[in-house]
Amino acid sequence: MTALGLVLLSMMGYSQHMPANMDNGAGTARLLSRSDWGARLPKSVEHFEGPAPYVIIHHSYMPGVCFSTLECMKSMRDMQDFHQLERGWNDIGYSFGIGGDGMIYTGRGFNVIGAHAPKYNDKSVGIVLIGDWRTELPPKQMLDAAKNLIAFGVYKGYIDPTYKLLGHRQVRDTECPGGRLFEEISSWPHFTKLNTTEATTTQAPVEPHVHPQPPIAKSQPAAPKA
Ligand SMILES: [Zn+2]
Repeated sequence: MTALGLVLLSMMGYSQHMPANMDNGAGTARLLSRSDWGARLPKSVEHFEGPAPYVIIHHSYMPGVCFSTLECMKSMRDMQDFHQLERGWNDIGYSFGIGGDGMIYTGRGFNVIGAHAPKYNDKSVGIVLIGDWRTELPPKQMLDAAKNLIAFGVYKGYIDPTYKLLGHRQVRDTECPGGRLFEEISSWPHFTKLNTTEATTTQAPVEPHVHPQPPIAKSQPAAPKA
C-alpha cells in the first residue's frame, strides 16, 4: 500500500513525473496505472485529437465509496467488468476514476474515446468519483484529486486551458453526478451552464448508461392545505 501510495505517474504513455513545485495542485496528484489495479486489456483503443475541450464529472452510484486502495482497485475492476462484460464495450467507460483513498485510477486515459457521455465521448475527459453523491459530499481528498487531475491534464496539454467543466446530468437524462456533488462542482473554475441549443437533447436511442441509475423517487402528493 505504501509503495502504491508513492507511485507517481506510472501511467502508460505519460509516465513523466509532475513538477514538484507547481502551485496549482497538479504536483500532488497521484495516479495509478491500469496494471496497478489489474485492468483487463481493452478490446480496442480509439484516440481523438486533443486537447479535450470538456471535462465531465460522474459519480458511480454503485459501487459505493471505497476508502482503501485495495477496495478502490476492486471497484475499478467491477466497473470494467460491468462495461466490458455486460455492456459489451471496449473497456471501462471512463477516462479516470477517483477513489475515497484520494488516488487517481487510470481508466481509458487521456485522448482516448470514452463511453461515458454520448456525443461527448470523443471530446472530453470523463472522471468518475467512485460512490453515491446524491446527498453526501465526497471527502476532501477525492475532490482535491479530481482538481489535481484536471490541473495536470491542462498542464500536459491533454485538456484545453479553456475547457468547460460539466456534470453528466447536463448532457444526459441522469441524476449523475448526484445532487450534492453537482452543487459542489458548480462552484469550481470552468464550470459551465449549457444553454439549450448547446445541451444535448435526449430523444434517444442512445447507448445505455455508463452507471446504474437510482430508482426515480416518487413525488410526494401535495399536503392538503390547512
Ligand atoms: Zn454519469
